[in-house]
Amino acid sequence: MRTKIVATIGPASENEDVLRQMIRAGMSVARLNFSHGSHDDHKRRLELVRRMAREENAYVAVMGDLQGPKFRVGNLPKEGVKLINGEVISLSCSAKLAADQIPLPHPELIHAMQPGMRVLIDDGVLMLRVVDVGSDVARCIVTAGGTLLPRKGVSLPGSKISVSSMSDKDREDLKFMLQIGIDAVALSFVRTADDLRELRALINVYVPNKADQPLVVAKIEKPEAVTDLAAILKVTDVVMVARGDLGVEALPQEVPFYQKRIIRACGRAGIPVITATQMLQSMVESPTPTRAEATDVANAVLDGTDAVMLSAETATGTYPVEAIQMMQAIATHAEREEDKVAAKDRRKWRLKKVDSLNVSGPDEVTEAITHAAVDVAGDVKAAAIVCMTHSGLSARMISRHRPSVPIIALAAAQRAYKYSAFIWDAKPISVEFMGDVDQAFENAARIVKENGFAKSGDRIVIVSGVPLGRGVGTTNICKVQPVI
Ligand code: PGA
Ligand code: MN
Repeated sequence: MRTKIVATIGPASENEDVLRQMIRAGMSVARLNFSHGSHDDHKRRLELVRRMAREENAYVAVMGDLQGPKFRVGNLPKEGVKLINGEVISLSCSAKLAADQIPLPHPELIHAMQPGMRVLIDDGVLMLRVVDVGSDVARCIVTAGGTLLPRKGVSLPGSKISVSSMSDKDREDLKFMLQIGIDAVALSFVRTADDLRELRALINVYVPNKADQPLVVAKIEKPEAVTDLAAILKVTDVVMVARGDLGVEALPQEVPFYQKRIIRACGRAGIPVITATQMLQSMVESPTPTRAEATDVANAVLDGTDAVMLSAETATGTYPVEAIQMMQAIATHAEREEDKVAAKDRRKWRLKKVDSLNVSGPDEVTEAITHAAVDVAGDVKAAAIVCMTHSGLSARMISRHRPSVPIIALAAAQRAYKYSAFIWDAKPISVEFMGDVDQAFENAARIVKENGFAKSGDRIVIVSGVPLGRGVGTTNICKVQPVI
């Protein structure tokens, strides 16, 4: 399988045996969802993932997912309150509530409301429309009624609320993630590139050394973020199409087109993208998915996603291992079918110009070399394309062309290794580059052979920067290397 799998770890998967099988079935990123669970839970899960990955001789990156500024209604009776269609109700942020008012302890949210706006509660299960707004009360008419339970999430599509993208809880969680050595941090409800800059600034404070910093993942779950996507792609390492909340903020029929648009933009920019949420939702309770879900996973692969994600399926579901096995079967089949079509006219499928890159330096050269390497590998029927990478840049620039031959990332730094877990088909091998160029290339061929990706008599295509060992952004050479 060339598509990567991100799986959320929770009570259902926090078990040696289950995790071992999940790793064997192809999980490459373990997600810790900080919307649920305690710090102790997350630390224990991280340590278990690390230990099982080591035992299985596999690399699994660990991604911490910050909850983000999620608004919630306040406390209500345990059994909730009934909202009836057509009824007018009052949401109030005041500490002193009248008996029939519903607590919404977020003044900034009340103040952002304007008559006519939609208010979505509990992921859109309940809906209101704003009638009028006072200093601390908003009157709304119920357009989709039901039972409102305490502390349910509230969103106001289309509003511009000027709060920090990170709550106090998120700041605490981030600090904790950095302490326990997380590999990637996902930021929820990103609105603009500035939100990610704020996250990076905080990371800089706690982990000043760039080489040791986690990757940053921008969760696109607000339409505003799609509008600012070009700028976001310049500051993020990875993108997630977070379809759950995106489907609340936008309309259901818009989600598939947002997905395609985001994935296409990521492919052009060489930024790996994860497609997330409800992919095999029915497998929370059933050992097989619906055919509609299978089609959804395959379509995400055909759209060009780098990774597919499982949430409740592996965190709390009854079939966490089967869910990964199923995802891997669907993705593998989709890749093969696509490759048959692409092989007929590979050059036409090749992406051209990069719109945005987020590593400073001679990016144009990296683009030209990696692009050429994919062509050369096809022409000489190479067994693999091998890149010697410090930052992961050359690996993702090769991957975005979706070559038919395996992509081997010889990672000279931890960052390239981590990054490979998110990049379509990038197979990381940890190495140190030493000696002169000829020796290093011979070594590379030997390592690739030892790892079973080529045999004597094969050719591989190597992408590298010479002189060797000068670090990030120095890719400048593509060589056809015989394997002996
Ligand atoms: P969440 O993000 O699971 O953290 O809400 C994913 C989504 O909204 O799709
Ligand atoms: Mn979300």
